[in-house]
Amino acid sequence: MNTRPSIAPLLLLFSLAACGEQGEAGSVPGAAAGAESEQDVRVFVGARILDGTGGPLVEDGVVIVRGGVISEVGASDVVTVPADGDVVDLEGRFLLPGFINTHGHVDSGGDRSDIGEQLDIYAHYGITTVLSLGDQADAPREERWSPTLDRTRLFVSGPSLSPASPADAGDEVARVAAMGADWVKMHVNAGGGRDTYPDVIAAARERALPVAIHIEELEDARGVLEAGVTLLGHSVRDQPVDEDLIERMLERDVCLVPTLTRELSTFVYADRPDFFDDPFFLERSAPEDLEDFLTPQRQAQAEGESARYWREALPLAMENMVRLHEAGVGIAMGTDTGPSGRFQGYFEHLEMEMMVEGGMSPEAVLVSATGEAARCIGLEGVLGTIEPGVWADFVVLDADPRDDILNTRTIHSVWIAGNQVR
Ligand SMILES: [Zn+2]
Repeated sequence: MNTRPSIAPLLLLFSLAACGEQGEAGSVPGAAAGAESEQDVRVFVGARILDGTGGPLVEDGVVIVRGGVISEVGASDVVTVPADGDVVDLEGRFLLPGFINTHGHVDSGGDRSDIGEQLDIYAHYGITTVLSLGDQADAPREERWSPTLDRTRLFVSGPSLSPASPADAGDEVARVAAMGADWVKMHVNAGGGRDTYPDVIAAARERALPVAIHIEELEDARGVLEAGVTLLGHSVRDQPVDEDLIERMLERDVCLVPTLTRELSTFVYADRPDFFDDPFFLERSAPEDLEDFLTPQRQAQAEGESARYWREALPLAMENMVRLHEAGVGIAMGTDTGPSGRFQGYFEHLEMEMMVEGGMSPEAVLVSATGEAARCIGLEGVLGTIEPGVWADFVVLDADPRDDILNTRTIHSVWIAGNQVR
């Protein structure tokens, strides 16, 4: 995993402020919760551990969880299994941090209206944390740092901001801050946002709120970096990334979220997609839910001008992702799931498959979906790795995802705060 200095003091502030619901000033939520309920001990034994940092696999590993937080981890010959623990035998299976989607949408406007159901679906597929970028800020998050949490952890930005003028930026940011948003989100493209983003970013920074921006073009990516953006919410898709952009991203430690499946979703319904017959997909989609995608109108839309544009932009988005990754820029797995035709839970696995297709190694993609994703959104040391002090969110797989990224779909079980959710 990337060991450059942490993003910026801003994100540390964010992480402490966002996680401060536990009360203790200056402490991370994991440590606080663990101390509160030491009596609740669960011990995972026999697993082959991939820790989410890209470190070596630990054979015959033991993970001890107290009050929802990892307290100890290591090989069975160095970690002593406590006598009072509830033991979970995972012999020969692969234990990884739960996957983190750094660009999702959890709201009532997509194919499914119930927010709790959406969080359950993400959890079912092993997506244990979602950053929802551009939706209601009032989605339920009160249990986010509870040891009894049993569905996906949710972080939200509130609605994507589009102030009418730079002078309105401060009020817009104040509005989402008052809603309790964890992030600020806005769009910057040919459709708008270019004259207002410097003021939005400045106003968000004043409140120690991180900012994710939807960009499509290289020049916008450069501009928002210069203004102090925290996260690039999509790929650069209009031209190849250049040395200047790479340097700015490295210098400011800003990550990019590829959202390759977002492009895929614009054109994949031109024909009946193969995944409509995938049993893993059908676990949480009924065949009658898919009928809308098989109508002549839907198929024509997927062959329209806009769809063609994104289809043609996808190979460049993939090349840019790899170029940035190879230069050491952080890549955070994210999908833009939630809107119609971008299936929550399943599309995160499809995203990881496409990231490998694009040229990243399975090992790098796994880190990008766990430890690196957490680091990119200011939650390093809190989520995304199998290390002491980190919340016990795990995906357990039957087959090695390093051999084949499709093995992320061989899910044996999913755990959030040490609680089994699948
Ligand atoms: Zn989005």
